[in-house]
Amino acid sequence: MKLSTRLQTVYDMVPFGIAYDVGSDHGKLIISLVENNKILFGYGGENKKGPFARLEEEIKKSSNKDKLKPLFNDGINDLPEDVNILLLCGMGGYLINDILNKNKQHLSHVEHIIVDAHNAIYEVRDNITSLGFRIANEEIVYEKKVYYEIIHFVKGKDDLNENDKCFGPILRANKSKTFINKWNKRIDEIDNIIAKIDDADRIETLNKEKERIKEVL
Ligand code: SAM
Repeated sequence: MKLSTRLQTVYDMVPFGIAYDVGSDHGKLIISLVENNKILFGYGGENKKGPFARLEEEIKKSSNKDKLKPLFNDGINDLPEDVNILLLCGMGGYLINDILNKNKQHLSHVEHIIVDAHNAIYEVRDNITSLGFRIANEEIVYEKKVYYEIIHFVKGKDDLNENDKCFGPILRANKSKTFINKWNKRIDEIDNIIAKIDDADRIETLNKEKERIKEVL
């Protein structure tokens, strides 16, 4: 099964164990992980009928269906106790935070959380580290004109500063070409906005954001 660059990046970060893929949808990620023996067992979770039916169908077709289980479940409401890896991909950052915060008590046996949030990444870093996890790895990829930041959290303590939360402690240390392109694009967006408005306060805020980006790059 061929994965997108985004999902392949998540796949590469997953350690051996028992994973629960929240919002599994087509199931490509969890099925690939099991079929390639990258994990011992995989749960796919969905809270909507259409995607859940698709997930069930895909799992039925898998040569490793005995090591896969689809669950109709809202977020991590009924998280099986053997799960030590959580995957939350292709969702907004606020939804990811809500899913985790609603059931903090279920995170006691979770050792790894791998997240591909499509927005609110500052809030995701802030929230998941406050839940008792530290950032172990980060990658940034560009696919179909979108930048994706994939973050691997492991149980532990982290003390992130504002730049860490905004740019990512590992991404800003590595300064990959993709990272630099993403933030240069943001500088261009800021310049375009400033050229079109005459709200002094907003311009000042945007100029501060631009200066901060330039300091990091
Ligand atoms: N994870 C896949 C990926 O990255 O390609 C699919 C992403 S898809 C855009 C988001 C999926 O999350 C949808 O199938 C949606 O039904 C599911 N979802 C949204 N909120 C959820 C929740 N609270 N619990 C379980 N699944 C949820």
